Amino acid sequence: MTAPILSKLSELRTLTRDWQRKEEVIGVVPTMGALHQGHLSLVEAAKSGCDRVIVTIFVNPKQFNNPEDLANYPRTELEDAQKLLPYKVDAIYVPDPDEIYPQGFSTTVTLGGLTDVMEGPFRPRHFEGVATVVAKLFLQTQADRAYFGEKDYQQLLVVRRMARDLDIPIEVIGCPTVREPSGLAMSSRNLRLSQEGLAIAAHKHAIMKRTAAKLSAGHDFAELAEQAKIDLIRAGFTEIEYFDLRCAETLEALTKASRPARLFVTAWADGVRLIDNIAVDPA
Ligand code: AMP
Repeated sequence: MTAPILSKLSELRTLTRDWQRKEEVIGVVPTMGALHQGHLSLVEAAKSGCDRVIVTIFVNPKQFNNPEDLANYPRTELEDAQKLLPYKVDAIYVPDPDEIYPQGFSTTVTLGGLTDVMEGPFRPRHFEGVATVVAKLFLQTQADRAYFGEKDYQQLLVVRRMARDLDIPIEVIGCPTVREPSGLAMSSRNLRLSQEGLAIAAHKHAIMKRTAAKLSAGHDFAELAEQAKIDLIRAGFTEIEYFDLRCAETLEALTKASRPARLFVTAWADGVRLIDNIAVDPA
């Protein structure tokens, strides 16, 4: 049976009320569509951990700080529904914009701390947009568990913090990044890369892994970061927005891998902003 594609909150509520009455565990996978294997890995995790799975598809205008990025964002709903078929999800919620931001909508969820670094300064108001829409999706779906990718690691921590701070009774589960054979993290934005861009982007993961191995061997970050940035530019990246080593829990900047950490890199190749991070085992 194909999953119903719902655009109205009232339709979704009819389903979730029934599931809740039967005490079924509801999982949600929030996405902006243009589904790829990374998204589908979250669906798989949700299917194995929950009785019912809702995939949401909503290109959230409030989290784009660049109108061009929003206009260019791929919209492929019918293909997305096809891709979800084998997973037998219970609902695909593609809310009408009015269901998320009705006339007169005036509430914004803002977080401090975790949002002050990395993506925060580079994408003003981005996390406000994310936290606001995700809070709404959590409340609209009434899910018990939500699945997010470690690919957007800062977002994962922000969303988990938001749910805790607002007492939304949901468990936020992080899932590993799915990569192309080249190591490039799968992303809807990769669709915009030319063959040449893909070849450049493919270098990033190897450079990150090399740096992570040296960090785990006890080397200082400062020198490794300089070398890695040179390697990225040599590979063809045009701009490196940040290359950071941070505590995996608090995102505090580290000078050494003195505790469980993550290496975060955001750089531009072929006119596309590529974001990635990997775990760094403590030295
Ligand atoms: P998006 O549609 O880009 O907003 O992503 C929806 C969800 O899929 C987010 O939780 C992302 O972190 C996750 N995601 C995107 N790409 C990947 C990937 N390559 N591996 C795992 N999760 C991913």
